[in-house]
Amino acid sequence: MTVIGLDDTDSRERGMCTTYLATRIADRVRDARGDVERLLLVRLNPAVKHKTRGNAALAIHTDLDPVPAFELAREELETTAETGDPDTNPGLVVAPHEPEDIPDEISEFARLAVQNLLTREEAERRIESAGYRSAGWKNARGKIGALAAVGSWNAFSEWTYEHISYRESERWGTPRDVDFDSVFEAADDHYPAIWDTVDRGTGEAVCMPHTPCPILYGIRGDDPDAVRRVAAKIEGEPVVRTALFVTNQGTDAHLRDANLGEAEDDRAYRVGGIVASEPETRRGGHVFFTLSEGSDTKSKSESESSDTLPCAAFEPTKRFRDHVRNLRPGDEITVCGEVSRGTLKLEKFAIRSLNATELVTPNCPKCSQSMKSAGAGQGYRCRECKTRADGKREREIDRELESGWYEVPPEARRHIAKPLVRGGFDGRTHPER
Ligand code: ATP
Repeated sequence: MTVIGLDDTDSRERGMCTTYLATRIADRVRDARGDVERLLLVRLNPAVKHKTRGNAALAIHTDLDPVPAFELAREELETTAETGDPDTNPGLVVAPHEPEDIPDEISEFARLAVQNLLTREEAERRIESAGYRSAGWKNARGKIGALAAVGSWNAFSEWTYEHISYRESERWGTPRDVDFDSVFEAADDHYPAIWDTVDRGTGEAVCMPHTPCPILYGIRGDDPDAVRRVAAKIEGEPVVRTALFVTNQGTDAHLRDANLGEAEDDRAYRVGGIVASEPETRRGGHVFFTLSEGSDTKSKSESESSDTLPCAAFEPTKRFRDHVRNLRPGDEITVCGEVSRGTLKLEKFAIRSLNATELVTPNCPKCSQSMKSAGAGQGYRCRECKTRADGKREREIDRELESGWYEVPPEARRHIAKPLVRGGFDGRTHPER
């Protein structure tokens, strides 16, 4: 068996798409009488700055010998990759193994590529020590993703599916002609086996990209048959090519559990804490609040108990911001998202316990009028009735939020983030659809 890994072949302005290139390589493998067992679409660390869009890397699992596999993949990259774009730096790595037999060092590299920042030098070192064939174009940064794609089959245990339909090349860069009603109908028929096809809140067909790339639409889900069936029901311009990818999309593979004080830039976390400031909507509609160490986390490390982490729900997360605005200081929550310039960009959060009381001036037990301050530190009194109270009293308040997980809408979802409807969360869920 052979694993072909490739990455960094496309351009934001000029188009192309590494998934498309992988399907062309798969065609050539079949032409050379090889069997293609599987196409793998892996999303790597979404915080990588030089990504084109969703930081995807691709692998092809085949029984074609590694030498012809490398040659035909190299030719295909040479002719099809958008190397005219200064930011496109393709990489190709070919491993002569069963995908299951990839050495630990390479699988570890794949795991790191999803949760960390890596260098091309580190990729080169591991490629060399594993004895893999590889090729790079320009600065060859794509070798990082290509090697991660090679190592990913053993690195992750949770997989989902995406069925991609591609456009005629003459139409690339032109508006996509797809019947929206057929998209919404098909999405409704198969939800929740398929997810993030549409956003019912905004009426957007999330499955259709807005870029000049060859993709017409991609249907994501847990069931390979369901994603195929939905794709087949969508009406629109001609589809010239389709492919089913096994992916780590919708799995939260990028998140790592951490304490609040451990969060570093360009990595993504799942971290617990207490809301420490009133959420504030700033210019542009972005909502910010500060999270501080929770009482349970404090005991782990007293020295870190003063740590705080600013959290933000940015404008594109739309209606999710209403849930964030409904948070109150004192709420105990878990937040998930990438940390960038010291701020966690919220993808989802869970309410662990709501602060459902507030302190108010007491009322007189005789006349029910609001009592007045009796002076600094002297509590409250009612001048008419001469009653006294030691301090403010607690009053229950109604909260809009309930316990459990809240998430951004499908339109704002990162490819790798797990939609709540997929289940497996430690609490109730309030899925967006
Ligand atoms: P497409 O998926 O459409 O090809 P993209 O959004 O995946 O585009 P790329 O053009 O592939 O973006 O650019 C991402 C670059 O970042 C690649 O060169 C890849 O090798 C590199 N890369 C991926 N993961 C990491 C990482 N964890 N650390 C450093 N570099 C990374």
